[in-house]
Amino acid sequence: MSRSLGLAIPLWFLHDSTDPLERALGEVGPQHVTATVVAGPQTTIRLRGPAPHVITLRGGWQYPPDNAAYTDAGLKPPREAALGKRNLLARLRDLLGRYDIPLVARLHPTVAGLAEAHPHLAGKTAWGEALPGRPACPAHPETRALLLDLVGELRQYEIAGLQLGHWLIDPPLPPAGALAANAPARELLGLCFCPACQQIARSAGADPDAAVEVARSALARTAVETVSVPADGPLADYRSARRAEARTWLQVLRQRTGDLGLHLLLDPGQNAPASEIPLQLNLAGAPAPLDTATWFHDAGAVSLPILRPHIPQPDALVRITLQLLQHGVHRIDFDGLAADPAPATTTSVRQAIRYAQRT
Ligand SMILES: [Zn+2]
Repeated sequence: MSRSLGLAIPLWFLHDSTDPLERALGEVGPQHVTATVVAGPQTTIRLRGPAPHVITLRGGWQYPPDNAAYTDAGLKPPREAALGKRNLLARLRDLLGRYDIPLVARLHPTVAGLAEAHPHLAGKTAWGEALPGRPACPAHPETRALLLDLVGELRQYEIAGLQLGHWLIDPPLPPAGALAANAPARELLGLCFCPACQQIARSAGADPDAAVEVARSALARTAVETVSVPADGPLADYRSARRAEARTWLQVLRQRTGDLGLHLLLDPGQNAPASEIPLQLNLAGAPAPLDTATWFHDAGAVSLPILRPHIPQPDALVRITLQLLQHGVHRIDFDGLAADPAPATTTSVRQAIRYAQRT
């Protein structure tokens, strides 16, 4: 597989000006640029540029979606309110076109305000409540139709690659708050019992009602005894029926996006879905500082944070990049230039790419 070392940027990096990105393209020489174009809510900081400031995004499409492109799903995609009406994606496409650099789109549609805008898409707990953070369920037929509509729309922006994040069946809740130390409770609360998931399970011969009862009773016991999610019985049948169906659908997605080299984006520690779609590990979610040898065995593609605390000093970036390549990684997105497009940061990425090209 051919090797490609590029930059990962959020689309808001172009909000004030394209100058910092143009400078980075000229100085770093990336072989591709991966832009997050549909994202969840986040608070981040921009350390340099026109003015250092905190950026708060509510989540949504970071370019103006064309509602006419979403006819299969019949859903209006939510816009990212903080970015105004300018089409930053078109601006990026034009800019990269001038440099002849391929554009890769990174998408997180399930967490991009979709369930807030269309509550019937929200994943549901065993009590029928929307899951915390209200991600849209990736098993819902309308969520899936919307993703395919989105891919169709992005083709008009001449994308050359695609990364899909937050597209997992039953991901456990992130370790935060009162449940941080209660892994079984987080796993049980991450199970989706939305009507679409129940229908999928029922069609495969599982019993969603019995699975709900098992999940409720197990969750109620997590506070007072050591509970593990049952490995057989109605709940296990419910999960495996939906995972099998999701695998079949991912195969459809892979066929529809084969020319775009689709990757599934995962955080370290997340269980990869059983599918033939290649994985990309997002090391921004790994403990800092980054320690090689721990993470890289399954993923040929990596999103690599370039700033502290993951990379303690600039020369560590070269070392870690070379170690990744030795582990068989063939695709790296250097992530963090938007937060700090400083000369030292740019230089460290340029050196990492140059060293990598010599090996
Ligand atoms: Zn569901």
